[in-house]
Amino acid sequence: MSIRRFLDLFLLLLLLLTASCEKVKVDENIGRINVENIIEKDGQLFLYSQNAVVILRHGSSKVEFGGIQIILPDEVLRDNDGIWHLPLRSVNYLSNIFKPWKLKVETVIIDPGHGGSDPGAISVNQKIKEKNLNLDLALKLGEALRSHGFNVLFTREDDRTVPLSKRGQMYEADLFISIHHNASKNINASGAETYCLLSDDIQDNSRISPAFQIACEMQKFQSLASGNYGRGVKFAKFRVLKDAKCPAILFETGFITHPDEEKRCVSAEYRQIMAEALAQGIARAVSL
Ligand SMILES: [Zn+2]
Repeated sequence: MSIRRFLDLFLLLLLLLTASCEKVKVDENIGRINVENIIEKDGQLFLYSQNAVVILRHGSSKVEFGGIQIILPDEVLRDNDGIWHLPLRSVNYLSNIFKPWKLKVETVIIDPGHGGSDPGAISVNQKIKEKNLNLDLALKLGEALRSHGFNVLFTREDDRTVPLSKRGQMYEADLFISIHHNASKNINASGAETYCLLSDDIQDNSRISPAFQIACEMQKFQSLASGNYGRGVKFAKFRVLKDAKCPAILFETGFITHPDEEKRCVSAEYRQIMAEALAQGIARAVSL
């Protein structure tokens, strides 16, 4: 056993011993999450299971999990009596991390964002249109997914206008993935974001849960391709996510308004690496 490994085990043991003196108090929502151990340390709540460690912080909606960040719809709170609280909606998403099940996926719809009369964002220096970057990355992702054995359909395969209202409802499939490149007035903004649907309709849960699991893997694998930890898995009420009849994800590759990220995103070689990384993330998160 290496010294490093020994020290890690020793620290974990110490953490368990010191933490077990006091029982961690959580509300009934957090109590529903099926984990083996809950530890409170330095104002943080650690949820442990065999396959994951999740770290929650008081007053924050940001959660750490396996090298990625998840931005939950709600904030984690530790009240004056020391009880940790989290609304059920966020607990439902978080629970998925600890579940071993995988969504069965045969057919994936890929939606290259914008197109035709809608150029999307324009890159900061080279003035490249987002619609063209989206299309190329989407086609490369389709190719990579086919090589993993999936059937792939596209909402567009060339530079044409496709109304937003049609994209989510074009085909029946098992998974819908919309591909975009990001833009901001703040030229320092950088990093990929992976979005799932934000909804208060309980009927949407059966679609959001598997999408969330897949989004986490996509976000992890994008960091291998970009070398950038990214901005995390987030939730939003995007039209295509709402309309799709199956689990749906919107991936924002990177900010083409950030000079360095623009250089990467306009490189076909980089898009190839990114496409293969995303396909690997998806393949790992689902079963065929
Ligand atoms: Zn876009």
